[in-house]
Amino acid sequence: MNQDLLVVNDLARHYSVGQGWFKSKGIVKALDGVSFDLAPARTLAIVGESGCGKSTLARQLTLIERPTAGSLTLSGVDAANAPKLQLRSLRQQVQMVFQNPFASLNPRKSIAATLEEPLRINTTLTAQERRDKVHAVIARVGLRPEHLRRYPHMFSGGQRQRIAIARAMMLSPRLVVADEPTSALDVSVQAQILNLFMDLQQEMGVAYVFISHNLGVVEHVAHDVAVMYLGRIVEQGPKERIFGAPAHPYTRALLSATPTLRPAERRQRIMLLGELPSPLDPPSGCHFHKRCPWAQARCSQEAPLSRPVDGRQVACHLA
Ligand code: SF4
Repeated sequence: MNQDLLVVNDLARHYSVGQGWFKSKGIVKALDGVSFDLAPARTLAIVGESGCGKSTLARQLTLIERPTAGSLTLSGVDAANAPKLQLRSLRQQVQMVFQNPFASLNPRKSIAATLEEPLRINTTLTAQERRDKVHAVIARVGLRPEHLRRYPHMFSGGQRQRIAIARAMMLSPRLVVADEPTSALDVSVQAQILNLFMDLQQEMGVAYVFISHNLGVVEHVAHDVAVMYLGRIVEQGPKERIFGAPAHPYTRALLSATPTLRPAERRQRIMLLGELPSPLDPPSGCHFHKRCPWAQARCSQEAPLSRPVDGRQVACHLA
């Protein structure tokens, strides 16, 4: 029996881009064959520059969009091809926490109403049972019962993110996709929110897909890391392997740009050439070849396949 909660295989999401009447359309391969597994109570961090496909991946995982190709299996069910009714029940198992908690909370609803809503829509709990659950969850995220009567604008950024996390946890999801959940917060409260995520994981066994460009955050919360570049995963494996000895040139460049307080771990900065290319017209072969300091002739002709290297998967001819 497969113990994985989530199995993603060769997942692709392409978008047609119109260029006006009667003109040819382009195709953006926002996700181009992504594969990974995730077990309960584990955290997979997805890292990469903006435009690499992280947000598109989040929309597939939260079952908001159907993929163009590939499979996505959640709790053993083929979510990519599930009929509408089944999709609705699968969606309850997956919740999302967004970057900006102010934008994700309805300003006209009290916190009590916001937290009760998913229970009202999706469960048969009585009014008293719903109230009990709301009180239990709000206490669990570190807020007080009197906060339930208040409205989002009456809270700090950190408190608002606690409320957003509480709402995500109301239906006891099996998977939470967190999209840059601390990047809009003061540094002083970021660690508290990350610790809250980790405590809830231990208690509830919930798995996280944690999308972040902040490698300090990733190092704090992740068990496994997947590095994305132009719609593909270029390196993935246990956090210790990736942070300890990155094998893909792009991962090395990302890590070399991350400040560390530990002198022994300081790396020589690897400067990447140019900008992230347009996903509408990605470079041939290895998508990274125009920016890679180690690129060879083969790299512009042949896309490297992902293969096991020293305890992780790497897509690079030279790894
Ligand atoms: Fe660099 Fe070539 Fe490896 Fe791509 S395949 S990362 S261009 S060395």
